[in-house]
Amino acid sequence: MENIEIARRLEELADLLEIQGANPFRIRAYRNAIRTVSGLTRPLSEVAAEDALTDLPGIGKDIGGYIGELLDTGKLSILDEVTAEVPRELATLTRLDGVGPKKARKLWKELDVTTPDELEAAAKEGRVAALSGFGQKSVEKILRAIEDFRKHQGRFLRAEAVQYLRPLLVHVEGVEAIRRLEVAGSYRRGKETVGDIDLLALVEGDDDRAGVMEAFTTFPGVDRIEMSGETRGSVVLTSGLPVDLRILGPESYGAALHYFTGSKEHNVEIRKRAQKRGLRVSEYGVFEEEGKGGDDGDANSDPHAGRRIAGATEEEVFGALDLPFIPPVLRENRGEIQAADQGALPKLVEADQLRGDLHMHTTWSDGRDSVRAMAEACRDRGYAYMAITDHSQAVTVARGLTPERLREQWVEIDEARDQVEGIQILRGCEVDILKDGSLDLPDDVLAELDIVLVAVHSHFDLDQATQTERILTALRHPLVDILVHPTGRLINRREPYALDMEAVLQAALEHDVAVELNTNPRRLDLHDRHLFRARELGVPVVISTDAHRTAQLAYVDEGIHQARRGWLEAGDVLNTRDRDGMQAWLKRREG
Ligand SMILES: [Zn+2]
Ligand SMILES: [Zn+2]
Repeated sequence: MENIEIARRLEELADLLEIQGANPFRIRAYRNAIRTVSGLTRPLSEVAAEDALTDLPGIGKDIGGYIGELLDTGKLSILDEVTAEVPRELATLTRLDGVGPKKARKLWKELDVTTPDELEAAAKEGRVAALSGFGQKSVEKILRAIEDFRKHQGRFLRAEAVQYLRPLLVHVEGVEAIRRLEVAGSYRRGKETVGDIDLLALVEGDDDRAGVMEAFTTFPGVDRIEMSGETRGSVVLTSGLPVDLRILGPESYGAALHYFTGSKEHNVEIRKRAQKRGLRVSEYGVFEEEGKGGDDGDANSDPHAGRRIAGATEEEVFGALDLPFIPPVLRENRGEIQAADQGALPKLVEADQLRGDLHMHTTWSDGRDSVRAMAEACRDRGYAYMAITDHSQAVTVARGLTPERLREQWVEIDEARDQVEGIQILRGCEVDILKDGSLDLPDDVLAELDIVLVAVHSHFDLDQATQTERILTALRHPLVDILVHPTGRLINRREPYALDMEAVLQAALEHDVAVELNTNPRRLDLHDRHLFRARELGVPVVISTDAHRTAQLAYVDEGIHQARRGWLEAGDVLNTRDRDGMQAWLKRREG
């Protein structure tokens, strides 16, 4: 079980216990533990294997036991006990803006409301406003929160947020007083999903600020204004995406950009490094400590304490701490500060270093465009090679190909090779891994392919040992080249299937199989943490789009963030090789 799933389960437990009326100290301890789990870069399973769960900050005996149980069984018996008394759906209610555990308890006890739908009905009938502690205002807020909840349950895909945000950026950038406008936060760190957007505007004169705020709040795509002050404004776009704007002067812009880019864990380490140098870092700048004693470097503490020695740019902030600039995608406290200190930051891969796309579909299975159209589009992107990889027969919903139809397709691929010059078209297939780990096409057919992709498209609910063995069996097959979308997750829709990723990566290494970073924004599979591990082990990674139409070949531009978050350099990515280099890899098992 992944750390994030464990965190989610514990969060649900804490929410329900709070609704139940449990001891507030206990709840607070649980919330602390959840923060630890969420911020942890190592898999909890590793920590548990070392019997070191309770060495983690905030993890006591109780929580350590719960984590152990989740890792061993995937279940949490205390959660079952609590949900026997408190309806589980109430945890969802507490995540609505303006509800929270106390109000959720009241809604449940007094109105028998447990779901957003029931809450909406009760609110519209005036039953909620009649409760003590709920005014008409808070009811309106709750109704809006329910609407937002339905529109986008959970977080926004980064690729979606990019689209919601773009028109706002164009609008605000048009204001003359703005010298620089940056998006900070998890968005700038290239995370796959974002909860909200932090915009930082650099404005020189105080007089111009009002105009900037005015432009921000009057953007036509603003659904409502939450707050509009002199230096800070907060709106929600019609898409439901919350956006904050901060207006800053030149002397502290870089420090604020660094601070609001995060991650929190990275910032904590940066502050520690500053302290060792007798410096203090805050969102206002880097300061020489004056009267030392008890100052914990809190960003909200007096910005005028001490002399500012840096702050205008991020380079300046890092420089004051004897560090080179650290790219935002690396700021997750995964060793980037140490690497920077040693001059060992990775030279991160760029989208324009990719020489080909090795995973795409056509009208032969569930794609929308022909072989030729895909080939032309790849050629137009400047690729040296590409692979046509339609589904195999077992994936009936995608009209997967039988050996006979696959051979028919090869005729069309040959035609496309004649028609579209300047690009090598590889004959491939996304071969289904059957339930027992065998492959969905006979070996003689596989042997005639230039490239063999394998993937799981069914039986997602096997237990971890069985699912892992299923995939290991496929990786042992001597004709397999790439394991694609290895965890099967669909962000905000489907959890990854239970898999021992360490075992999978080790097997990929042993059998000379590459693993895919699928850049479909809903997949981004492998995840950055797994990419990081693949790089450590030396398992080659392929970055492909899994395009089902020509336009989706552009998925690579958003997906590249994930590769960079995994510290990948060009040399770690197989499809940065030129045509000869790729050909040599495809023939690696021969001779
Ligand atoms: Zn697939
Ligand atoms: Zn596919």
